[in-house]
Amino acid sequence: MEDTYRHKGLRRKLMEEVRGKGISDAAVLAAIDKIPRHFFMDLAFLEFAYQDKAFPIGAGQTISQPFTVAFQTQLLQVSKGMKVLEIGTGSGYQTAVLLECGCRVYSIERQKALYDKTRAFLPQMGYQPNLYYGDGYKGQPAFAPFDRVLVTCGAPFIPPALIEQIKPGGRLVIPVGEGEVQVMTLITKALDGSVKEDTFGEFRFVPMLGEREWK
Ligand code: SAH
Repeated sequence: MEDTYRHKGLRRKLMEEVRGKGISDAAVLAAIDKIPRHFFMDLAFLEFAYQDKAFPIGAGQTISQPFTVAFQTQLLQVSKGMKVLEIGTGSGYQTAVLLECGCRVYSIERQKALYDKTRAFLPQMGYQPNLYYGDGYKGQPAFAPFDRVLVTCGAPFIPPALIEQIKPGGRLVIPVGEGEVQVMTLITKALDGSVKEDTFGEFRFVPMLGEREWK
C-alpha cells in the first residue's frame, strides 16, 4: 500500500473538516494530518478512509470516526510523556494518535483476531505501543496508575477498576450508555483522590462487552 500525494491531500482536508467541527488541540490535528488512516482500514473501504465516518474493520468492530477520535483525545488533555491506558485497541488508529501526541500507550483488546492483526501491524508503521489481549473492565493493574485512561467502546457503566487506576490529578474519558447511544463522560480525579464527573454530549460506539458475552 502506498501513501500518495492524493492521500496526503485528502488527509489535510479531513484535518480541516475536524478543525471546523470544533477541535483546536494542535497535537491532535497534526496527528490526523500525519497518520495514513487508509493503512488502518479494510481494502473494501479504502476509498472512504478520509471521510469523517466510522467503518467496519472486521470481527464486527469499527474504526472510530476521526472527529470522535479527535474529540476524545482533546478531552483527555494529553501531553508528551504521559502514560495512557486505552480500552479497545481495534484498528490501532486511536493508539497511533496517542503515540503521535507523545504518550506511552498501554492498550487492551478483547478480540483475539483484532489483537493479533494490530499487534503485527503497528510496529510496521513504526509505532511501539504495549498491547494486551484481555478484558478492559479490569484495566491493567500491573502498570497502574495512569495519567490518562481512554475507553473507545460504549460502556454500560464506569468500571470501578478504571477509576482506581487513574493517577491523582488524572483523567478518564469514557462513553457511557447501554443502548445505541452513549454519553461522553469525563472523570477527573483530584490530588486528594476525589472524583468528579462531567458529560459532553452523545456519541455512538460499538459496545464494551463483558467476559460472558465474548465469542
Ligand atoms: N480505538 C479503536 C476503536 C475500535 S472499536 C480504533 O481506533 O480503531 C472498539 C473496540 O473495543 C473493538 O475493537 C472491541 O473489540 C473492543 N472492546 C469491546 N469490549 C472490550 C473489552 N471489554 N475490553 C477490551 N476491548 C473491548
